[in-house]
Amino acid sequence: MTTIALNLQAAYAALATAARQAGREPTDVRLLAVSKTFPVADIRAAMAAGQRAFAESHVQEALPKLAELADAGLEWHFIGPLQSNKTRAVAEHFAWVHSVDRLNIAQRLSAQRPADLPPLQVCLQVNISGETSKSGVAPADLPALAQAVAQLPRLQLRGLMAIPAPTDDEAEQRAAFAQLAALQRQLQADGLALDTLSMGMSHDFPAAIAAGATLVRIGTAIFGQRQYT
Ligand SMILES: *Cc1c(COP(=O)(O)O)cnc(C)c1O
Repeated sequence: MTTIALNLQAAYAALATAARQAGREPTDVRLLAVSKTFPVADIRAAMAAGQRAFAESHVQEALPKLAELADAGLEWHFIGPLQSNKTRAVAEHFAWVHSVDRLNIAQRLSAQRPADLPPLQVCLQVNISGETSKSGVAPADLPALAQAVAQLPRLQLRGLMAIPAPTDDEAEQRAAFAQLAALQRQLQADGLALDTLSMGMSHDFPAAIAAGATLVRIGTAIFGQRQYT
């Protein structure tokens, strides 16, 4: 087996353990393989081990990789910061976007989603307390944004995403993820049919699963350390 196949197997085993410890079914948590900065050969190694859902965070880097793998039957998720001049490429080439944090971006994605594709599946990125990234809607502005995005014809609002500030303290990790889960419950109580909590990365996905994650985004633990040049 390749290192990537072994890593993937270990990640699925850890996912299953975390789910069972939380009294949940392992199949209720999806694993996204985050392939940003890694070559197509590494994606093919993960595919050979059965992985079908992948995520990228830079449009320019992603497009040639998606084109090369166009016939592979993969499901692509966009998880990076999204500027308005990149919305068309995302609307045309991805199945999911996890990083929508303002209405004008959502409107552009809806208008630009090709008619022959299913609606673009969307999570709203929330800037929960302690988050270091500048991305994400403030919790106070989330209800209005969610209601507006839910009205857009070519988008399907699925849930929320967050990237809490990194910490090794599992209690702190869980507290941050619990905030996102609480925001999701509030929106559900307001009538939105949301089923996706996109939270948890290589260093904190067990805590995210304990707090209710339905989708974890794992890069380093599968593909190794990223080299930025
Ligand atoms: C890079 C990235 C990940 C994966 O992080 P790892 O720590 O490598 O698992 C997950 N989510 C987002 C939004 C990312 O940009």
